[in-house]
Amino acid sequence: LLQLAMPLNFIGFVYREIRQGLTDIEQMFDLLEVDPEVTDKPGAPDLAIANGAISFKDVHFAYDPQRPILKGISFEVPAGKTVAVVGPSGAGKSTISRLLYRFYDIQKGSITVDGQDVREVTQKSLRSAIGMVPQDTVLFNDTIAYNIRYGRPSATDAEIQAAAEVAQIARFIGDLPDGFQTKVGERGLKLSGGEKQRVAIARTVLKAPPILILDEATSALDTTTEQEIQTALDVVSENRTTLVIAHRLSTVIGADEIIVLKGGEIAERGTHGELLAMNGLYASMWNRQREATQAEEHLRQVRESD
Ligand code: ADP
Ligand code: MG
Repeated sequence: LLQLAMPLNFIGFVYREIRQGLTDIEQMFDLLEVDPEVTDKPGAPDLAIANGAISFKDVHFAYDPQRPILKGISFEVPAGKTVAVVGPSGAGKSTISRLLYRFYDIQKGSITVDGQDVREVTQKSLRSAIGMVPQDTVLFNDTIAYNIRYGRPSATDAEIQAAAEVAQIARFIGDLPDGFQTKVGERGLKLSGGEKQRVAIARTVLKAPPILILDEATSALDTTTEQEIQTALDVVSENRTTLVIAHRLSTVIGADEIIVLKGGEIAERGTHGELLAMNGLYASMWNRQREATQAEEHLRQVRESD
């Protein structure tokens, strides 16, 4: 039995290692979401970044020609301002951020940064101007320091520490036995969604891009974590052109404009106050979320009084 168990064990070990290796590669591709058809035009110049004003004009897009996702979307994010995109799941919110990063090319219309069409400049220069804090951060199987430094490989240890402080994760890291040298990811310490997101924020702080895309996590974060993340994001988005894909409406109250996306079209747009006054889709989403929060709060009070 022992003789049989040994090789099986060994095979299991090798299989796990290979699978792990593959997982990492898959995650890398997932992270990059490479569309092989998106390539630089011959002789394309680098993006000449001024202050990162974004413009979407009549943007039409479909992953699959049979199923249009965005049906003529137009909006602007003036330099240094914050625009939030909200709407039901599947509305096409994350797609907007992928298109700005040019993971895919649109079928009609235009997307420009500082007046330059994203298809006319090198992908490298476009992507280096944009910092993305994604919905689900994938961490490399390496140290926390490595994962943060990825935002700017030349960063010093002191800069990494400072970025972690801005991202409200320095204290958490400081309390770990190996600190910044703690291995994370599949083969290391498993971080919660909120912790991973803060590592991603630290990475973005180091990168210090003129344009910021924040795709909020759908998973409910506890109130403390949410506040810590919000504080971090407020600092990072200050004076940066910011596009927020928001699930929690509490985070978009201060946005310069809120775009309500539904079925690939802009259903409503305006500031938080204007949208509430319209008493439409946004107002009903807002009321529903507020009721959910109040119910949660009530439940917690009941539990605590037990
Ligand atoms: P949201 O972020 O608003 O929840 P997404 O922009 O992620 O929505 O997706 C919009 C629609 O596009 C969804 O119906 C989704 O299933 C579809 N979709 C997203 N990514 C892909 C893809 N890579 N290939 C095909 N369809 C996709
Ligand atoms: Mg999404």
